Amino acid sequence: MFSTLLLAWYDAHRRSLPFRGTRDPYRIWISEIMLQQTRTETVAGYYRRFLERFPDVFSLAGAPEQDVLKCWEGLGYYSRARNLHKTAKIIAEQYGGQFPRNRDALRALPGVGDYTAAAVASIAFDLPEPAMDGNLTRVLSRFHGIREDVGMPSVKRRLADLARQDMPPVRCGDFNQALMDLGATVCVPGTPDCAACPLRPLCDAFRAGDADLLPVKAAAKPPKEVQLSVALVLCHGRILVQQRKEALLNGLWVYPLIEASTPAGIEKALKSQGVSACYREKLGDARHVFTHRVWQMTIHLLTAEEPACREGQFVSLREMDALPMPTAVRSAREQARTLLTPAFPEDFDLAAAAAVYAQSWQQAHKAHCSDDFIRQHDAAHMEMILRGHRGDGNRVFAITVGPSTEGVLVIDPRENELVSLYLHPSAQHAGIGRAAVRFAIRQLDEQRDMKVTNLRANTAARTLYAACGFTRIVATKTLDPQRDLQEETRVRPGRY
Ligand code: SF4
Repeated sequence: MFSTLLLAWYDAHRRSLPFRGTRDPYRIWISEIMLQQTRTETVAGYYRRFLERFPDVFSLAGAPEQDVLKCWEGLGYYSRARNLHKTAKIIAEQYGGQFPRNRDALRALPGVGDYTAAAVASIAFDLPEPAMDGNLTRVLSRFHGIREDVGMPSVKRRLADLARQDMPPVRCGDFNQALMDLGATVCVPGTPDCAACPLRPLCDAFRAGDADLLPVKAAAKPPKEVQLSVALVLCHGRILVQQRKEALLNGLWVYPLIEASTPAGIEKALKSQGVSACYREKLGDARHVFTHRVWQMTIHLLTAEEPACREGQFVSLREMDALPMPTAVRSAREQARTLLTPAFPEDFDLAAAAAVYAQSWQQAHKAHCSDDFIRQHDAAHMEMILRGHRGDGNRVFAITVGPSTEGVLVIDPRENELVSLYLHPSAQHAGIGRAAVRFAIRQLDEQRDMKVTNLRANTAARTLYAACGFTRIVATKTLDPQRDLQEETRVRPGRY
């Protein structure tokens, strides 16, 4: 009677969900793992993208774990993704790509608990296994009038036995899904909508009038609060990230998470990891709630001169975006993205920019010029050159990343010319030069040919301009014919 009423209701009222309507155990398994601890609406998009990226168990088994974690990014509970990967390897290698057709063998797979094993067994193979999730527990405890703590193992077993008794000989998967849907839409937590329920004529809690008090659950322990400092350590356009080795968020990338909260304490903790960083400022607060713990975070900005560290690595903005990072550091990551995005102020500290200009210029020219000539181009000399550019009507910009000046950019709008682009040697190959060229193009007339001047031997500059869509039209003149050093080139900006 129970199952007849339930399945008739399900046939008329089942939810339309993207992961329904399949008997493919791979798809059912993926959706059930995703649905653990995660809302159905959130899962829908992830499920589609995950299957596009890993359409079958072999594609998942053959992927690097970092790719699986990246695809899982934002769903949380990342051990699920790692276990999915492990299980896919087992199914591919030990089962020839076929999921086992019995609950115990499914239950033995990594990350597959009682619920998931029963869901796959019943939905894919129509085996009579009740998938005891929160919905089934609530509906069955109300229906059968179970008024004991549903967290107790003996009560759990009793509910599972009752479900098994109620289960029909066929349509076992539909029976489980019908209870899930009834629990999600009618027999909801708090006050259920008994008027819409097909089980009302037989329901114990409805008869007793205490449905809103069921199921009985012991009060959960409040999660433990942990205070952490998140250190955003910038070093010439790159930021320090570390891969977690701890069980929580294992394998994911985060910024250094430090227990100390004072500037000196944070610097000291970083020093112990081989990072020599200077504290700059506090950027804000963030909070992330896990099941059993809460991270109360304060985000701090520091800068380092050398990208040295024993744990982790300094990465560019693009590299950071390619790493799997947990939602727990989303706020810090947004701050990091803002910090790592280059800016081009025209009003800036000329001395600081001249010092970087000198370093960069000296590095670029040392192979071709005498030591004396190199020494002459010190910060004071470069400051004079920058003042000269301004006096000549050129526009001079600093290239800044976060709080640091990383280079200078000079353009001449009258000649439609990119006159100078110099970056701190450590800030090169981090996407900053490309951002600077794009900025320069926007300041100039994109419809006309442009002029750039650079060292003939400077292949890095040529590569950069080519990457930004410049097509070389003609080298108009060699500025220093004796040493064959510099040439002016007319270029046409293309798509970039
Ligand atoms: S009658 Fe009410 S309490 Fe009983 S199963 Fe239906 S919705 Fe839940």
